[in-house]
Amino acid sequence: MSGQAAGSLRSRCPVSLVDWPAGVAAERPADGLLSVELRWLEGRITSVLPVADAQGLVLPRLVEPHGHLDKAFSWSDFPNPTGTYAGAMDANMREHRTRTAERVHERSERALALAWRHGLRAIRSHIDSLGPGAACSWEVLTSARQRWKGRIELQLVALVPIAHWSTPEGEHLASQVAAAGGVIGGVIEPPCRGRAPRQALRRLLALAERHGCPVDLHIDEASEHPAAGVRQLLRVLRTMTVSVPITCSHASSLSLLNPASLQRLGVRMAEHQLRVVALPLTNGWLLGRRGQATPLQRPLAPIRQLRDCGVCVAVGGDNVQDPWFPGGNLDPLALMAMGVPLAQLAPWDDEGMAPFSTDAARLLDLAWDGVFRPGAPADLIHVPTGGWPELLSAPPQRQVLAGGVWVQD
Ligand SMILES: [Zn+2]
Repeated sequence: MSGQAAGSLRSRCPVSLVDWPAGVAAERPADGLLSVELRWLEGRITSVLPVADAQGLVLPRLVEPHGHLDKAFSWSDFPNPTGTYAGAMDANMREHRTRTAERVHERSERALALAWRHGLRAIRSHIDSLGPGAACSWEVLTSARQRWKGRIELQLVALVPIAHWSTPEGEHLASQVAAAGGVIGGVIEPPCRGRAPRQALRRLLALAERHGCPVDLHIDEASEHPAAGVRQLLRVLRTMTVSVPITCSHASSLSLLNPASLQRLGVRMAEHQLRVVALPLTNGWLLGRRGQATPLQRPLAPIRQLRDCGVCVAVGGDNVQDPWFPGGNLDPLALMAMGVPLAQLAPWDDEGMAPFSTDAARLLDLAWDGVFRPGAPADLIHVPTGGWPELLSAPPQRQVLAGGVWVQD
């Protein structure tokens, strides 16, 4: 990094991402974009003021709330040509057995370098944490987190089947995760019937609570058994108090509920302050498969309905060129370009922009919510020409400012 201590930029910014000084009134334009001048000094925004007729578009540096850096770019060696969930799991297992620290290092460095150039400021990465490749993956990613500190905030989640947290090894892993400042994760697969999943969830939540670790689950990533996992989670939460934040990643099968059931479930999720990460690309690729037929049903977390109930919902990119999804490149603008049509989110409305920006930052409990105001980090993505069509024509050229310094290619 090299650069200047002071700078300024005139561009157009989504209304919801600007905090005007008291007394400044700005009318809401039809395209939701305000012409602004941002000034910064020594890494911090010093003023945000309205101007006339700026060009281009500016966003805060963005956030990836759900990724898997340990297996990124492994598709070429471990492809999943059937595109099924079972095929992905099988290839993932084979890949996991061959992991070395060198491989995980190469993958995560490549991923973080891309994320940095594309304008990401934080990533939550799940890590396969059971089996031969677990120890080296944690070792590499905890040192990557240290190395990238100040550029990209990396949050690490221990991903295991939820029952693992009920074993002595799981207990040991929880201590290690807590010592590393990590997140307790887990996969709960449908149909999630009976007492066993509740017992496993109770144990997981108790461990997380004891260690003060946030929780992030792969839950209801399915085309059937609508909301079976979230229902079990809510049953457990009726009987215990949990103060650490709980995120439900995927929550795809909730979209198969009827509107009244979904509304009731959403209200209960909001009561327990559950958070949701919707993952349209991996879900779009893996779920709803019916042999060779084009899928007519596309399970995806019901973003708008859950937000209307008061649930914090973010959109994430999930897998990057691994057995679970052959595409992806840690580009938040490419994710918007693909996520906007899949989820029918309009980024010119606050409702459509928040899951890609402010709610993703809230979900990760980041220090900055991503709204430009004096004192905020001088961290931004600038698309110099055009507006929404250019932004949504992936991938647009951009300039990235991090800590008041322009990121060089
Ligand atoms: Zn995932």
